[in-house]
Amino acid sequence: MARFTIYRGFLSMRRHSGSVAILVIACLAVVSEAQTRREIRFPDLPGQRTLKCDFHTHTAFSDGDVWPHVRINEAWREGLDVIAITDHIEYRPHKNDINADHNRPYEIAAARAKELNILVIKGTEITRDTPPGHFNALFLEDINPLDTKDFYEVFNRATAQKAFITWNHPSWLGVERGKWGEAQTRLFEAKQLHAVEICNGDEYYPDGHQSAIERGLPVLGCSDVHRPLSDRPATATEHRTMTLVFAKERSLPAVREALFAGRTVAWYKNQLIGPENLLAPMLAACVEIRPPHHQNKDSAWVEIRNLCELDLTLELGPAGSITRANIPAGATNVVRLSVKALSADGSIACKASNFITAPNTVLQTRLMIATPKPAPTTSPAGI
Ligand SMILES: [Zn+2]
Ligand SMILES: [Zn+2]
Repeated sequence: MARFTIYRGFLSMRRHSGSVAILVIACLAVVSEAQTRREIRFPDLPGQRTLKCDFHTHTAFSDGDVWPHVRINEAWREGLDVIAITDHIEYRPHKNDINADHNRPYEIAAARAKELNILVIKGTEITRDTPPGHFNALFLEDINPLDTKDFYEVFNRATAQKAFITWNHPSWLGVERGKWGEAQTRLFEAKQLHAVEICNGDEYYPDGHQSAIERGLPVLGCSDVHRPLSDRPATATEHRTMTLVFAKERSLPAVREALFAGRTVAWYKNQLIGPENLLAPMLAACVEIRPPHHQNKDSAWVEIRNLCELDLTLELGPAGSITRANIPAGATNVVRLSVKALSADGSIACKASNFITAPNTVLQTRLMIATPKPAPTTSPAGI
């Protein structure tokens, strides 16, 4: 309905095309200058950049509602580093109006991406009925050869281009239809299936997550966005579903290397979901526990800073002496701990409810209390 109203407005504006052209140019200039980026706060890991990535998006070239450059504007505004344009090969409801080469949406997006310093991946969605379902091929050179009927030949052609291939939204049409099946096994054994999209928009698929864990496949969270994204600010619980990739640098080759190496976690509805070997250092980077500033024989008071986007829920201390702390994103709480939580090595047992290592399993680890910074030994010059 909203789209119809805008379209009608456009028609009436055409009658005054001279003044409208000036107005449109002026508006475009204002809009582009007004693009404000909201940075996403997830800290880097030692030696690795934490890149915010969405590997599954659609445009009007398949069944999306927007022109490709809009996806880049949204990515900039929402603080992403990387997006993939992954229009369906086989499902193109607008093809009578937009009858273009499969590479065209990427080309349009890439031109805008250069201006906004967004890294954009040429990808596509291989779209078959479920089972076997939908798959994304990322980092393609040329999408057109994948437009062929033979299902397995599509994957041969994608891997000939060294594509990274994901199994999308496994249980989207129900757990029974979305099970890991014969096709997934055949592709996995042929090294033609490299990751599982365990979170898609508002959905999380525990069965798909378990399939990924059993085969050591990386997990992804993606938006699979079709509509224009609102410019309403994100919150800890309402944000774009995306993947954090731990890359050696902010570049597409580094993203590709990190994906094949499995350095990914999904950010989904105030949770990070991924393997323990990545979630444990991520939690350590997100939480700063300062040394106790007050203590008696039973309790110690510490400041805990939350350096990330999650509203954190932590259980601190050993069994029987646990303190539960809810620390909003970006905030600092004073937390009263049992002295039994303080161990000689300066670490504290921690269970992090927002860090999910497997279906129904949360991360249990130890966090170090920060060492106090020494006071400056010399006075600044001139004082
Ligand atoms: Zn799909
Ligand atoms: Zn899709």
